[in-house]
Amino acid sequence: MGDTDEDAATPVKLIVAVDGPSGSGKSSASRGVASALDLEYLDTGATYRALTWWLLSHGIDTTDPAAVAAHVREPLIEVGTDPRAPWTSVDGVDVSTAIRGREVTGAVSAVARVPEVRAHLIAMQRDIIADSAGIVAEGRDIGTVVAPDAPVKVFLTADLAARASRRAEQANWSADATRSDQDRRDRMDAPQSGMAADAVEIDSTGLSLDQVVDIIVRMAKRVPHPRRNS
Ligand code: C5P
Repeated sequence: MGDTDEDAATPVKLIVAVDGPSGSGKSSASRGVASALDLEYLDTGATYRALTWWLLSHGIDTTDPAAVAAHVREPLIEVGTDPRAPWTSVDGVDVSTAIRGREVTGAVSAVARVPEVRAHLIAMQRDIIADSAGIVAEGRDIGTVVAPDAPVKVFLTADLAARASRRAEQANWSADATRSDQDRRDRMDAPQSGMAADAVEIDSTGLSLDQVVDIIVRMAKRVPHPRRNS
């Protein structure tokens, strides 16, 4: 399977960028790929959610960009990068579950649009990627902004109905509530959700999770990665 080509090429650090809208199956696919290839995993959405959780718990108006910008550097946001057990903490408190709740989900897109928020969290995300030996990073702007040199870039999509039912299942919301939240977030997230020109688009609508993981793993195996060579 192309081993000769791999051996001949110069090994590069394997960074797999997985972008796409909510409900496209990014998280499960990214974790599956990272586990299969023994890579770390970075959920960049969790960093935006963690900051939003902190702002809400400090009573800061998340719809006021100036107020949000003024506090961006205050919380200590940390994430675990084991794809089998990812976690998120803020100032030492595990917020892995709290950041998936309705309150954070409803407020996060406005927070993520604030330029100071993006600059701060993107720098943090780049540090995590730089410190890893190889990583799967998922988000909206990994292939375009956070890691534009990633050797593997995927843009995962799915039709609206498939996305809404996935989200409803994950968040335990009604399909209608999920659909309207999704529409709103799609619109608000649009400016930072472009597909990189060199990304491969995968429509997961009719595919199982295993099939999506398999496609991305095969793309990644074409990259000459130091960990895989002898
Ligand atoms: O991926 P997830 O749905 O958890 O992301 C939560 C929110 O964080 C998104 O709706 C978006 O507003 C923001 N986000 C972002 N850039 C990323 C990842 C997430 O703006 N790379």
